Amino acid sequence: SGTHTSQKLSALNPRQQEAMEYVSGPLLVLAGAGSGKTAVITRKIAHLIQNCNVPSHRIVAMTFTNKAAREMKERVSKLLPSDKMKGITVSTFHNFGLNLLRLELKHTPLKNNFSILDADDCKRLLMDLMQRDNLSGADSKELIAKAMRRISDWKNDLLMPAQAISTAIDNEDLQLAHLYELYERNIRAYNAVDFDDLIALPTRLLQDNAELRDKWQNRVHYLLVDEYQDTNTAQYMLVKLLVGVQARFTAVGDDDQSIYAWRGAKPENMALLADDFPRLKVIKLEQNYRSTSRILKAANKVIENNPHLFEKALWSDKGHGDVIRVMNCRNDDDEAERIVHDIMTHRLMNGKTWQDYAVLYRGNFQARVLETQLRQLQIPYKVSGGTSFFARAEIKDVMSYLRLIINPDDDSAFLRIINTPKREIGPATLEKLGLFAQEFSMSLLSAAGDLRLNMVVSQRKAVLHLHEFAQFIDQYTRDLHDDDNPVPLVRQMINETGYIDYIKENAPTPQNEKNKLDNLETLFSSIQSLINRAEDVDEKNIESVIRKLVLLDLLDQQQEEEDTDKVNLMTLHAAKGLEFPYVYIMGLEEELLPHKNSIAAETVEEERRLMYVGITRARQGLTLTLAEQRKMGGNLRQTTPSRFLDELPEEEIEWSGRKKNKISNVDPKAQAAAYLANLKALMK
Ligand code: ATP
Ligand code: MG
Repeated sequence: SGTHTSQKLSALNPRQQEAMEYVSGPLLVLAGAGSGKTAVITRKIAHLIQNCNVPSHRIVAMTFTNKAAREMKERVSKLLPSDKMKGITVSTFHNFGLNLLRLELKHTPLKNNFSILDADDCKRLLMDLMQRDNLSGADSKELIAKAMRRISDWKNDLLMPAQAISTAIDNEDLQLAHLYELYERNIRAYNAVDFDDLIALPTRLLQDNAELRDKWQNRVHYLLVDEYQDTNTAQYMLVKLLVGVQARFTAVGDDDQSIYAWRGAKPENMALLADDFPRLKVIKLEQNYRSTSRILKAANKVIENNPHLFEKALWSDKGHGDVIRVMNCRNDDDEAERIVHDIMTHRLMNGKTWQDYAVLYRGNFQARVLETQLRQLQIPYKVSGGTSFFARAEIKDVMSYLRLIINPDDDSAFLRIINTPKREIGPATLEKLGLFAQEFSMSLLSAAGDLRLNMVVSQRKAVLHLHEFAQFIDQYTRDLHDDDNPVPLVRQMINETGYIDYIKENAPTPQNEKNKLDNLETLFSSIQSLINRAEDVDEKNIESVIRKLVLLDLLDQQQEEEDTDKVNLMTLHAAKGLEFPYVYIMGLEEELLPHKNSIAAETVEEERRLMYVGITRARQGLTLTLAEQRKMGGNLRQTTPSRFLDELPEEEIEWSGRKKNKISNVDPKAQAAAYLANLKALMK
C-alpha cells in the first residue's frame, strides 16, 4: 500500500517538514501566499495517519469553500491508499456545523428535516417582517441589506437577540435588534436555520453542554484549519471548543490575505491564538513556490502599503519571469475584447491550454461583457461562484411548487412560495402556523390545510388563504400523480397560481421579464425531455422527473463543473487559495478596485489585501486592465485609474495604451502607521 506515497512528491523544505511533523502541541503556520501552507495541511493529514497512528475518522480538516474542500480531498487522496481515505472529514466550516447539528439534533431546538434558508429566503422573510412592523423604509433595498448584515454580524459574534438589544448603540441599531429577535422567533417556528446558524448553533451547543463537548473533543483527535485568517468569532470559538485543552491542531494562514472582514472575519484571531494557547508554536515559511520573482515583487510592493501584524519576506527561485503588463482600454467592451484576444493569441503562440488562464474581477457584473466576447469566439469558459441556472429566483420558485407536489413535507419549499405571488398571509400568521405545525408534528403544508388552525390564527382571511393554498397543492398533486403527460398540467398550475403575472408585474425591465419567462420555458422543456428520455415506464412520471431535476440541481452546486479545458472566470474573492499560470485582473479603477464602499468606509486596506490575493494567484504571467469609460447602472462613466497601479514597482511594468498621471493623493503609508498604532493599542 506504500505505492501512493512513493509517487513523485516534491520534497518539503525544512520548515515545512517541521510543520508537518510537529504534533505535540498547537501550531500556527503563518506565511505568505504560495508558500505551501495548504501543501503542509494535506501532507500532514497523510503523516498523521501513516506515521502517528491517528485513525482516519479522528481527523478533521476545515476549509472555507466547497471548491477548496474538494481540492484538498483530492490532494490527500493522492497521498494515501483509498482504504485510509475513508472517514477523513475534509469540509467547510458550514458543512461541519450542519453535520454536527444533524447528529446532535435532540439537543437542539430543531426537529428532524429542518430546512436551511439561503440568503434569498432570509431576505424575503426580513422584508415581510419589516412590512408587518411598518418600519419606515421597509421597501428600501439598502435598509434590508443593512439588516441582513447586522443580523449576520450578531450571529457571527455569538450574540443572542437579547444581548443585541441590550448593547444596541443607537436607535436604529435598537430597531434592527428587535427585528433580529422577531426574525429568530420566526425561523425557529418554521423549524429552519440560516447559514450563520450552521456555525453559531453548534458552537453554542458545545459551549453550553459539557457532556457533548467532551464527546466531540474525544471524537476529533486532530484538527487542521486552512485560511485561518478568515475565521470569525463563532468559527474561532468552534475551533477552541473542539480542540479543548489538548489543543491538537494546526492552523495555517496569512493575515495579508484576510478578505472577509465584511463578513465578520477577524485577522486578530491569529494574535488571539497565542493568548489562548500559551504553548502555541509558530512556524513561518518564506519561500514561495508559485510565482516568478517579478510577480512576487509586485505583490510585496502593494501589500507593503498596509500595516502588518507579522512581518513576512517572501522570495522565490522561479526566475525573473515575464514583465507585468497593464492594458489601458477605451471602455469595458474594449477591455473584454482585448483580454479575450490576448488569451487567444498567447495560447496559440505558446502552446498552452484554456485552463491555464484565469480572469479575475471585483464584481460578478464584470463577467457579463467578458462572457459575451468568449461566446462569440466560441471559447470554452466556466464561471465559478456565479448564478447558475438553478440558483435563479424564478427557477427556484417554480421548482419549489414542484417539490411540494412530490413531497408535502418539504417545509423550505412551502416557505419559499407561500407568499410568491402574494397571498396576503403575513409573517405573524406564518409564525403561528409554524408553532401549530410544531405542536402537532406535522408539515407546514398539512398544517395549512388543518381545520383546527382557526383556533390559533384569528385572522379569518389569512386562514382561508392558507386552506385554499393547501387545497390547490393537494388537487394538483392528485391530478399530476396519474398523468403520463404532465408538462401541460404543470404549465397550467404555474399559470393558475398567478406566478406568470407576478413576473410580468415585478420584472424591472422588459428584457428581464423576457429572460425570466425564457428560463421557465427552458425548465418546462427540460422536464419534457427528461420524460421523453426515460426508458422505464415507471420513470415517466412527474415524481421521478422532479427528483432527477432536484438531483441535477445539487450536482450543479457541488461539481461546479468538471476540470475540463476551460478559461476560468471568477471574482477575486473566489480565487483565494487557487493558482493559475496566467492571470488577468480586470477593472483597476478607483471605486471598482478599490470598491467605492471601501473608500467611503475607509477600509481600503481590505481591498489592498484583495489585490494582493489576486496578484499572488499568478504563476508566470500577470496582466492588469482598466477601462477609461465604464457602463455602471445604465450610465457611461469616466473612470480614474486605481491607486493600486501607483503602488506597483514601476520598473517591472509595461504599459500599453496611454499611461495616466499619478492619481492618488492619499499617503497609504501614513494611513497604515496610524491604523497599526490603533490596532496595537487595541490588542494590549
Ligand atoms: P495560498 O496562500 O495562496 O493559499 P499556500 O501557502 O497554501 O498559498 P500552496 O497552494 O500550498 O500554497 O502551494 C503553492 C504551490 O507551491 C503549489 O503548486 C504547491 O504544489 C507548491 N509547493 C508547495 N511546497 C512545495 C515544495 N516544497 N516544493 C515544490 N513545490 C511546492
Ligand atoms: Mg492555500
